[in-house]
Amino acid sequence: MSDLRRGLPLTKSNREKIFPKLTPVQISRIELHGHIRSVQSGEVLIEQGDRSVPFFVVITGEVEILRPLGDRETLVTVHGPGEFTGEVNMLSGRRSLVRARVTKPGKVIELDHQQMLSLVQTDAELSGILMTAFILRRVELIAAGVGDIVLVGSTYSASTLRIREFLMRNGHPYSYIDLERDPDVQNLLDSFRVSASEVPVLICRGQIVLRDPSNQEIADCLGFNESIDQTHVRDLIIIGTGPSGLAAAVYGASEGLDVLMLETSSPGGQAGSSSRIENYLGFPTGISGQELASRAYLQAQKFGAHMLVARASRLSCDSKPYVVELENGTQISTRTILIATGAQYRKLPLENLSRFEGTGIYYGATFVEAQLCGGEEVIVVGGGNSAGQAAVFLAQTAKRVYMLVRSNSLAASMSRYLIRRIESSTTIILRLQTEIVAVEGKDHLESVYWRNTQTGQTEKHEISHLFIMTGADPNTHWLDGCVALDDKSFIKTGPDLSADNLSAAGWPLTRQPYLLETSLPGVFAVGDVRGGSIKRVASAVGEGSTAISFVHKVLEE
Ligand SMILES: Cc1cc2nc3c(=O)[nH]c(=O)nc-3n(C[C@H](O)[C@H](O)[C@H](O)COP(=O)(O)OP(=O)(O)OC[C@H]3O[C@@H](n4cnc5c(N)ncnc54)[C@H](O)[C@@H]3O)c2cc1C
Repeated sequence: MSDLRRGLPLTKSNREKIFPKLTPVQISRIELHGHIRSVQSGEVLIEQGDRSVPFFVVITGEVEILRPLGDRETLVTVHGPGEFTGEVNMLSGRRSLVRARVTKPGKVIELDHQQMLSLVQTDAELSGILMTAFILRRVELIAAGVGDIVLVGSTYSASTLRIREFLMRNGHPYSYIDLERDPDVQNLLDSFRVSASEVPVLICRGQIVLRDPSNQEIADCLGFNESIDQTHVRDLIIIGTGPSGLAAAVYGASEGLDVLMLETSSPGGQAGSSSRIENYLGFPTGISGQELASRAYLQAQKFGAHMLVARASRLSCDSKPYVVELENGTQISTRTILIATGAQYRKLPLENLSRFEGTGIYYGATFVEAQLCGGEEVIVVGGGNSAGQAAVFLAQTAKRVYMLVRSNSLAASMSRYLIRRIESSTTIILRLQTEIVAVEGKDHLESVYWRNTQTGQTEKHEISHLFIMTGADPNTHWLDGCVALDDKSFIKTGPDLSADNLSAAGWPLTRQPYLLETSLPGVFAVGDVRGGSIKRVASAVGEGSTAISFVHKVLEE
């Protein structure tokens, strides 16, 4: 019997879901996918650092799960009859974070990585039980910092924040030591001659010390990419794993396509940084972007899609099959491509801006935000149409809308009809030649300072809702002219492509481009990176899944 009191201190009393006991009928269904074997006391079934580890169900005997650290081992849990090993790495094929050792001899069912994937793809009931257990186990490992990484960083270092975000959003557990709180560690780093500019330091799998590593270096050290074959020609490469890329991966892989995702950072994209998405269908109480992303990523993996943590740096558009080049020079061939690289919202250069994103600072003005700040004062920053629309919309419910614009007039940047509405509104107060210089607050934005750039006069206002509507830059610079772009560098697709665009691109086919297809046959663009897109999670998901039906058509051509 597993005794949780001997292992990891669980944050939830949800024991049955984390370590469920399978019924004899469920166990016999698992047996059909693998084989039974005997195990002996002391036998190590999984070693920490092993890749593509097998899945074990204990029939008789006992298997302990341990976290090795140097010469010491910490007990995570013990699996008894009816219980099973594994957590999310089981699907991704990434390295095991723990060791599994037999403590009482008996029999187990063993499934290799492929057999495990086939089980979760074909047995809906077991898929639900195993997936839930794997996710909750990973949550517990993260909460307890049970991982193969120690990060030594500083609260004041941007790189530390980047790495913590990268590990957190990739769902990778780690231990963190803050130099500001632990001066002894600073002395240790000094004696190893680690300079301030080399902080943070990351100790990877107790073996390799990385100084201020890039995301790619961390991914390489943790072996995120090593189980993935980068040599064969794929049906589809998806570049970017925000909501649109993840949706395409789930639909593509579940419909039998050989799908590879490329992601420079972590699954979820911009949506992954949203603390609560309130307007996504099916989640009436909202869902955090991180949770939505990890569920979707796991779903894509369940259907057999793979992900490389890597930046696509070039598309060679003349060769067929197409070749996508990664930042490290690796080239991967594919029959079709889906570009889902999104856009970067332009941010204000304020030190603590990110602290209030989602808690007072917003990049979109929907009914949700309007409700949040109904009857209160709000600020809209920006002089373009999106800022004008937001100001007019928010003026219907807010007590007062301050519209801050850096230039000395709206005429050059905003449609006339919006300017008229702003001018005739008694709720909107327009402040030209004005910029925000600081924001303050504890858990939520509380005050904003702005300065008139002509007079230099600074004002403090106790306002807790700031809408930054200064536009977005699409992540298309790396495409280097391969596909037609609009005047703001977003990708043109389907009916938006003019005859001139197609002839300039040398469109070779008698048919017109499919909806969401770019000026390059078989190369699609979806989500925020696409010209005229709606810039919402739901529309990105819709476009990603829709594009897959056209990918099938191209593959049949
Ligand atoms: C703070 C915030 C809150 C939001 N809240 C909401 C909300 O509540 N509701 C809503 O509907 N919408 C919301 N949005 C908008 C929504 O998040 C976006 O519309 C949506 O994420 C777009 O999805 P996407 O897949 O097109 O692109 P993105 O989410 O932008 O994802 C693009 C991905 O591509 C990757 N990438 C970029 N270049 C490369 C490259 N060269 N190689 C490999 N990978 C690359 C990026 O790292 C990123 O992960 C919010 C946006 C923000 C910023």
